[in-house]
Amino acid sequence: LSDRLGSVFDRLTKQGALSEADVIAALREVRVALLEADVSLPVARDFIKRVQDKATGSAVTKSITPGQMVVKIVHDELIRVLAGDEPADALKIDSPPAAILMVGLQGSGKTTTTAKLAKRLKDRNGKRVLLASLDTNRPAAMEQLAILAAQVGVDSLPIVKGESAVQIARRAKTQAAMGGYDVLFLDTAGRLHIDEVLMDEVQAVRDIAQPRETLLVVDGLTGQDAVNVAAEFDGKVGISGVVLTRMDGDGRGGAALSMRAVTGKPIRFVGLGEKMDALETFEAERVAGRILGMGDIVALVERAQETFEAEQAERMARRFSKGLFNMNDLKGQLEQMQKMGGMQGLMGMLPGMGKMAKQAEEAGFDDRMLRRQVALINSMTKKERANPDLLAASRKKRIAAGAGLEVSELNRLLKQHKQMAEMMKKMGKGGGMKQAIKQMM
Ligand code: GDP
Ligand code: MG
Repeated sequence: LSDRLGSVFDRLTKQGALSEADVIAALREVRVALLEADVSLPVARDFIKRVQDKATGSAVTKSITPGQMVVKIVHDELIRVLAGDEPADALKIDSPPAAILMVGLQGSGKTTTTAKLAKRLKDRNGKRVLLASLDTNRPAAMEQLAILAAQVGVDSLPIVKGESAVQIARRAKTQAAMGGYDVLFLDTAGRLHIDEVLMDEVQAVRDIAQPRETLLVVDGLTGQDAVNVAAEFDGKVGISGVVLTRMDGDGRGGAALSMRAVTGKPIRFVGLGEKMDALETFEAERVAGRILGMGDIVALVERAQETFEAEQAERMARRFSKGLFNMNDLKGQLEQMQKMGGMQGLMGMLPGMGKMAKQAEEAGFDDRMLRRQVALINSMTKKERANPDLLAASRKKRIAAGAGLEVSELNRLLKQHKQMAEMMKKMGKGGGMKQAIKQMM
């Protein structure tokens, strides 16, 4: 795939901002990558559309191609979508006994994951855990859970022959409450395919158990079907999260994006093998890299951006320490400040600037002011920016009017520029300037 992308990228060598054509060409390849990773078609299409709007017009760092830049943007967006806002591993297990309902198709890994989670809660959180199997279809499945429970050192509900799933759920609840357990896992039966009987049973169990969490366990190798499974379970039972199993295999994990997009519910854990400790908190970054399968390109772009910034910092440091700090430099700094979260954030990073930050704050130096100052610099000519000493009264009037502001505001900017230039010069002599600039970027 990387080869195929390479050829597309070779054709896209225009630097500067990403044009719509650049973006569309690169996204065509990204779309193929998503589909190859088994992201469902409508989800892939939606995702691409959103990235297209986002990417068009973005700046491209020198020494990488627009196509590579698009891949980086796609990667970042993938992480954003996959990660969501909620912490992945915080299971709601307050108000004991907290029931956790495990649902999913047969063979997806429910029973295994139940035992893995029980072990985790016991080992890491010191919780007392009770496991109950509701798989009345397969007696072997009940024994499987009991064996795993013993293996990880937690209790399991004694098996009573002939009970229905609902009856077991009821007995488990009582047992959990009387036995003083913190958490009760209910491991439900699965079917090979979604059907009414399965959903009815799961619904009935849910109504009895009143679970704090309902985790949908899905085989990470599931392809296009993941969307249906997730939508169906979420619609009929209501899930609070997803566990993706078999991520130790070759699957690219596109199901994660599909399910996240369709249900909006977070992926909580990832199963990475058959062993009881082969369970990890879901990490968006890792899965994004895997889905995209273009980790090399993402790394390349990150490296290029870092190098570019380091070179720029070095160049600036050299100029500043010679006292060369013109309006273009100031503009660059002001824009950087806006990105960094304003004056306070920036000054906090520069050595010896704490006092100035305070003064600036008292003088009403905020983000609106940053924007006004940039507007003032924008309305200067090239010559004026390079040499602010040119600014006689008439020029000042023109510039202020051009920015729709008062001359007094321009004067303040000029004074500030002068102070900064002097400070830069002083700092340059003492060294440490390059470091300071690098930190700001
Ligand atoms: P259930 O029918 O949903 O309860 O599925 P099981 O928990 O019985 O798991 C079915 C099979 O998948 C078992 O052989 C498990 O050992 C295996 N399995 C479960 N999770 C994983 C995983 O994350 N990775 C691998 N490689 N195998 C797993
Ligand atoms: Mg099972």
